[in-house]
Amino acid sequence: FLPRLVASMEGPEESYIMVKPDGVQRGLVGEIISRFEKKGFLLKGLKLFQCPKDLAEEHYKDLKEKPFFPKLIEYITSGPVVCMAWEGAGVVASARKLIGATNPLQAEPGTIRGDLAVQTGRNVVHGSDSPENGKREIALWFKEGEICEWVPAQAPWLRE
Ligand code: GDP
Ligand code: MG
Repeated sequence: FLPRLVASMEGPEESYIMVKPDGVQRGLVGEIISRFEKKGFLLKGLKLFQCPKDLAEEHYKDLKEKPFFPKLIEYITSGPVVCMAWEGAGVVASARKLIGATNPLQAEPGTIRGDLAVQTGRNVVHGSDSPENGKREIALWFKEGEICEWVPAQAPWLRE
């Protein structure tokens, strides 16, 4: 993934959003995708994917020392996830707002976690926490050729 990571450091802001295995098992894929779609961000990559252990460990490497890390890796690899790449100015912070607080009991109603989840260990969705991590995570989860650059027909109706 290194060449793609270097190549992707410039360009528009992107966030890596992922429906976690509980979201897939509970039939929430369409609901979660539609929140970002309706908001007006641009979908650039989308796939159902069984995450291998080494990828889960790399994705969450900053949490390696946390006591819940082994359970987190077990959770993320417990079934297929839906990987998404979304683009747009401000998409990282806005997606974090749409997703809500890490603990779903503290997440505001109207947010994905606030509406659809009850526990931190089953909080249905991931969103990148910085533009840099957005780039890093998209390069990590998507291969060359899996990202589409396109202009949706609604573009002039979203931005002046
Ligand atoms: P996020 O950015 O809101 O997803 O939260 P973090 O980056 O802090 O943690 C990543 C993920 O690890 C969370 O979304 C949870 O799935 C999981 N996690 C975080 N804290 C805990 C915890 O205290 N217990 C458990 N079981 N999982 C946790
Ligand atoms: Mg995080």
